[in-house]
Amino acid sequence: MNEPASTTTERAGWRELSACRHSDPELFFPVVPSGPGRDQLAAAKAVCASCAVRAECLSYSMATVQDHGVWGGTSEEERRAMRRARLRRSLSAAATRERPDPGERPDPGERRDHASQRRRQPALGASA
Ligand code: SF4
Repeated sequence: MNEPASTTTERAGWRELSACRHSDPELFFPVVPSGPGRDQLAAAKAVCASCAVRAECLSYSMATVQDHGVWGGTSEEERRAMRRARLRRSLSAAATRERPDPGERPDPGERRDHASQRRRQPALGASA
């Protein structure tokens, strides 16, 4: 009987199912992304393209902030761009949540209360 792929992946560990498990690890860590490194990067990405656990690999690399090498079919630069985009979305969502509803005006009485409290508090260093 066949099991669902996710169950098999969880039990075996995604690394054991990777397409690169018998590849030269050096291929996945090009020293520079240009020149011969560009060919190395393309070769590593070609292996990733046929990998059954590509999503798990990318997810792991993002969660553990893997700065070097090819993970989940992405280069270092691509993952940095993904992290920046994720941060921008997160900041934008937070700003949207904190922005007051434009249709909601502050209670004028509440503002007066804060102002009168400030007037009642003595300034630091002021003698009584
Ligand atoms: S996605 Fe690429 S680096 Fe990740 S496990 Fe698969 S082949 Fe290896």
